[in-house]
Amino acid sequence: MGRIQHKVSASLKRALEKMKLSDNTEEIKEEEGDDIKIGTSCKHGGCTKSFSGAASNEEVCAYHSGFPIFHEGMKYWSCCKRKTSDFNTFLSQEGCVKGPHIWRKKDTGVKVVPCRFDWHQTGAQVIISIYSKNSIPELSYVEANRTTLDIHIVFEGEKEFVQKISLWGVIDASQSVVNMMAAKIEIAMKKSEHMSWARLDLPLPVATPQTTQKDQDQDDEDEDSEDEDVLD
Ligand SMILES: [Zn+2]
Ligand SMILES: [Zn+2]
Repeated sequence: MGRIQHKVSASLKRALEKMKLSDNTEEIKEEEGDDIKIGTSCKHGGCTKSFSGAASNEEVCAYHSGFPIFHEGMKYWSCCKRKTSDFNTFLSQEGCVKGPHIWRKKDTGVKVVPCRFDWHQTGAQVIISIYSKNSIPELSYVEANRTTLDIHIVFEGEKEFVQKISLWGVIDASQSVVNMMAAKIEIAMKKSEHMSWARLDLPLPVATPQTTQKDQDQDDEDEDSEDEDVLD
């Protein structure tokens, strides 16, 4: 996997400059006032504690530094990857990182969110458009080899879009480019062969036959949570 070169448009540069200016003023405002309210919950992934006074700042928070992944019936955190099919087991997994609690959302940095994207193709290229506003070039990257894309986009200051795609066709990553604009990002992938792609990604692999009946039962119980990709 190598990073695809990226180009930053003038409009995005201007938008980011503006954001920096307004960000600074906001921070000063927040430091002046705003005590933490009793009952404010910790913003760390996997932590269920809430603020109950100054003593809460002395507590050690065990949290997950990554983000939740729900995939093919398995649930796990991207940081420690302890896969389980049971939703309650997933929720009770103790954090893999220790540190102080975080009460303000702003302090947690990025939050992984879904982001609308689509694709189209020309004879020579397959182009993915990701509708992320004001993406941050220093923190965003797209890695690729001939058949896989790994997209990490940080946008709107604190949101992160993460997507791994097994491509339907073969690309030439060295001839591909990521165009970062103010309103969206375009990943223009050079096709290795001039052929029409039937779809962008390969269908998901079928469930592994080793799955036991017990696992299947557990899966059925928490079906409600299956259609969510990202847990708040
Ligand atoms: Zn973890
Ligand atoms: Zn915490």
